[in-house]
Amino acid sequence: MKRIKLLDKEFALSIPASDIKKALWEMASKINAELHDKNPLMICILNGSFMFSADLMKLIDFPCEISFVKLSSYEGMGSTGKVKQLIGLNEKIEGRTVVLLEDIVDTGVTIEKLIGQLNAQNPRDVKVATLLFKPDACKRNVELDYVGLEIPNDFIVGYGLDYDGYGRNLPDIYTVIDY
Ligand code: 5GP
Ligand code: MG
Repeated sequence: MKRIKLLDKEFALSIPASDIKKALWEMASKINAELHDKNPLMICILNGSFMFSADLMKLIDFPCEISFVKLSSYEGMGSTGKVKQLIGLNEKIEGRTVVLLEDIVDTGVTIEKLIGQLNAQNPRDVKVATLLFKPDACKRNVELDYVGLEIPNDFIVGYGLDYDGYGRNLPDIYTVIDY
């Protein structure tokens, strides 16, 4: 199995780019079927979702907008449990369908907080599309409308996800091997 090193940690290949691509096709075909007449506003949650959002948007087959928010909750290899909002949303979402584009739902704290903030602005509907989901880590009861892959509760990097800033450029996803 292919291994890489980032800073002080070693990682082993766990989700090859071909599996990511397949998951994206499945998510996009569901979104295309369900939301083509809803004029949804896609919201990419930076930083981790930049690559997922870019690739997913290329598979959306109806005219739609994308905007960006920047949140941060992770330090090193763990959630701090607190969500910092670093850049907010400029668009009006009242009466609109919005789709949150998240790289991974781990504890669920980030997505729950953002859904709460958005609901205060009276959108028509808030949907969640996450490439990855860690069911064993999730402590919150959040409804995930589009899930690419369910994964074990291990720290991963690649395809937008980082270890202290590194690894976001990797086209495949890797799991940490030495804690
Ligand atoms: P949550 O609030 O659900 O615990 O985590 C949300 C954010 O933490 C994700 O959007 C992602 O940016 C980061 N995160 C969660 N799990 C991992 C992981 O295994 N690896 C990396 N690099 N980031 C993660
Ligand atoms: Mg994220």
